[in-house]
Amino acid sequence: MTDQNTKEIQKLRSFLKQSSRAVVFTGAGISTESGVSDYRSKGGIWDRFQPVTIQEFLADEEKRREYWHRKKEMFTEMKDAKPNAGHEAIARLEKLGKLIGVITQNIDGLHQMAGNQKVLELHGTNRETICLACARTGPFESVYQRLLQGDEIPLCRDCRGFLKPNTISFGQALVVEVLNLAIEWARNSDLMLAVGSTLVVEPAASFPRLAKRAGANLVIINRDPTPLDSLADLVLHGTAGPILAEAIG
Ligand code: ZN
Repeated sequence: MTDQNTKEIQKLRSFLKQSSRAVVFTGAGISTESGVSDYRSKGGIWDRFQPVTIQEFLADEEKRREYWHRKKEMFTEMKDAKPNAGHEAIARLEKLGKLIGVITQNIDGLHQMAGNQKVLELHGTNRETICLACARTGPFESVYQRLLQGDEIPLCRDCRGFLKPNTISFGQALVVEVLNLAIEWARNSDLMLAVGSTLVVEPAASFPRLAKRAGANLVIINRDPTPLDSLADLVLHGTAGPILAEAIG
């Protein structure tokens, strides 16, 4: 921790002290600290390979095989991932009664594992599979076992429909109810902590803006600069886990 960071952490502490309606918005950066790859970043799975859209998944058996092949890689990584100091600090904020909730772009379920109950997953979750025909959901572990046993395109055991992780795929719209609630949380917050997000794509970038416009303090914690840094009341460039652990305790 540098001296500069110490000063900034004190400022973050004082923002947290004043706040009773904080919202935490998280992106891939917090997950990479738990060893979960940033799939959309440079060198990530979706950078190395053309993403499979939902339309291709539905129409083409070869695309379904390719899709599941990559999901198997993701599941392998995710099954051993544990929440890190950043997730745990955010969970403490909820226990302290300071948090409206967490809005996340991540699909690894690590916030819930850390103990957060109020979590909006904008892109859905990899922890669960859903049948695209009968909508039956199940834990990812059982499908993961089938993948390991050589089932390349797992089908629903009830109706033989296509199974898919319960995520928002490329070419699929976000869930309107989830998005609307996230917007409401941002508008009602008195402190917005944006953690581990590049804040480049929409709607990610809109939550800090909405909160700021509604009078909240905006704090950005990210390894690299973001386009919204100039709008923020406080910017911390560094690793989120140690920073949050230090500020929240
Ligand atoms: Zn089914």
